[in-house]
Amino acid sequence: MADIDIHLFPCLNDNYGILVHDRASGRTAVIDTPDGEEIARQADAKGWRPTEIWNTHWHPDHTGGNILLKERYGLTIYGPGRVDGRIPGIDVKLGEGDRFDFGDHPVRVMETPGHTEEHIVFHLEAATACFVGDTLFTLGCGRLFEGTPEQMWESFGKILGLPEETKLYCAHEYTLSNARFAQSVDGGLPALEEAVARYEAMRERGEPTVPTTVAVERATNPFWLAGSAKELGRRRALKDAM
Ligand code: ZN
Ligand code: FE
Repeated sequence: MADIDIHLFPCLNDNYGILVHDRASGRTAVIDTPDGEEIARQADAKGWRPTEIWNTHWHPDHTGGNILLKERYGLTIYGPGRVDGRIPGIDVKLGEGDRFDFGDHPVRVMETPGHTEEHIVFHLEAATACFVGDTLFTLGCGRLFEGTPEQMWESFGKILGLPEETKLYCAHEYTLSNARFAQSVDGGLPALEEAVARYEAMRERGEPTVPTTVAVERATNPFWLAGSAKELGRRRALKDAM
């Protein structure tokens, strides 16, 4: 959207830092904090003063820069807060269905447990964007550290139930290794092969494969396709043929 700018940049080994800037209000949200110094450098270079952090879950590669950024900018930290003591510096504890305003734009929170027992995503409809942390990756799925496959399945359903054009900002660049797994179960699926070729070319040019979209993940993500009876039949037929 014209009045919201989103800046994505690599952080640590394979994380992404994300800054979301609302021109009208001047607010700038930092989506997770893999590397506080790098995030501050990027924000300062843009001339955007961070006003808040939106944390998706407690893992250190998502909250490690919280305190540095809070001390530097005096910002407000939003995050999942049912379990105490996990999000450094948290100010506003959020759960399923909570809403808050980002300038004039509502942000809607959904709980997506699976990777961790408490994981939330932030849907910013005004930017046609959802910040999904480590729940869903381009062609992949977050590791189940604390949750069950059933929980993760439900979480996937929430994210992939958003409007098709919604851009999904995941927190890591895992796409090419995810692609190898996806091809091992769904190789030959035209939408998948087309997407993998595109991602390989993008990575060769050094471009991020994030964001992806709801429409693309519904058509290519092996963890989502597992729920389609047609796909399961096809996978079984493939296996039998091997
Ligand atoms: Zn994580
Ligand atoms: Fe992570």
